[in-house]
Amino acid sequence: MSIRSEFIWMDGAMVPFDQATTHVLSHTLHYGLGAFEGIRAYTQPDGSAGIWRLDEHLERMLDTMKILRMQHGWKHADLKQACVDIMRVNKFESAYLRPLSWVGMGRMGLGARDNPIHVAVAAWPWGAYLGEEGLEKGVNLRTSSYARNHPNAVMSRAKVSGHYVNSLIARYEANDDGFDEALMLDFNGYVAEGTGENVFVARGDSVRTAPTANILPGITRDTMITMLRAEGIRVKESFFARDTFYVADEAWMCGTAAEVTPIRSLDRRVIGDDGTPGPLTRKLQALYGDAVRGRVPAYAHHITVVPRD
Ligand code: PMP
Repeated sequence: MSIRSEFIWMDGAMVPFDQATTHVLSHTLHYGLGAFEGIRAYTQPDGSAGIWRLDEHLERMLDTMKILRMQHGWKHADLKQACVDIMRVNKFESAYLRPLSWVGMGRMGLGARDNPIHVAVAAWPWGAYLGEEGLEKGVNLRTSSYARNHPNAVMSRAKVSGHYVNSLIARYEANDDGFDEALMLDFNGYVAEGTGENVFVARGDSVRTAPTANILPGITRDTMITMLRAEGIRVKESFFARDTFYVADEAWMCGTAAEVTPIRSLDRRVIGDDGTPGPLTRKLQALYGDAVRGRVPAYAHHITVVPRD
């Protein structure tokens, strides 16, 4: 699937795709201090586009910029309008949206503090993040040999460009070893998250997920917890080791890009009896799929409808 679109929003203006460029001496390109988001918009029952949990994503983006001490004048409402506009001008009914803020060109070196702060919002059509087959049949994971970023070395609640080097080396390792994705453990050896997803395990009537202290507090993770509680299922946010997966009945990954992706195996131990997605995973997958597409009134407040021209 192509990442091309007609326009990309840059610093307040709609810029033709091929002109949405930045200088090679942009500070972030060298040192990784950037804030970004990954958001999805889905076709709603009336054919219009609806952006899922846009406010929460923009709040996290602005929090990231604050944590990184990126000084800027953009307000939540400005960025929200940019996200709505990028869908409209590109005439997308569904898309993946990518707001990004970076430190531009000016001075070099780590002491540079007054370079311009840029913001862009792009959008492009994007299918299943871990493949259609992954979404249908589940994915195979290996425990990464790389520890997840330490919470006192990086700020875990911030979605920072540079943090993703940790994710990338883990993802490459897993893929090169024949697995779909990596499960990352924290500095104590407890389960943290995937390289771009949060993880859940279920056994009996209990569901567990890692606490938010040293993972990205995923917006999909939050949706999962709400959906599980609405079903009367207890969710425990606590530290646990990888062997909880080995003996789980069901397990899944979730994220804006990955949506709800069943986990078929971890370290070659199949999840459940035979690794096929379990009933709870399937139920959440269907409910999430319906909610983001505006088919579940209880979650309609999470959708920002893009007005049609
Ligand atoms: N963890 C990491 C490391 C991620 O990159 C993502 C994707 N943003 C997630 C979890 C899931 O977060 P969300 O549900 O907000 O997309």
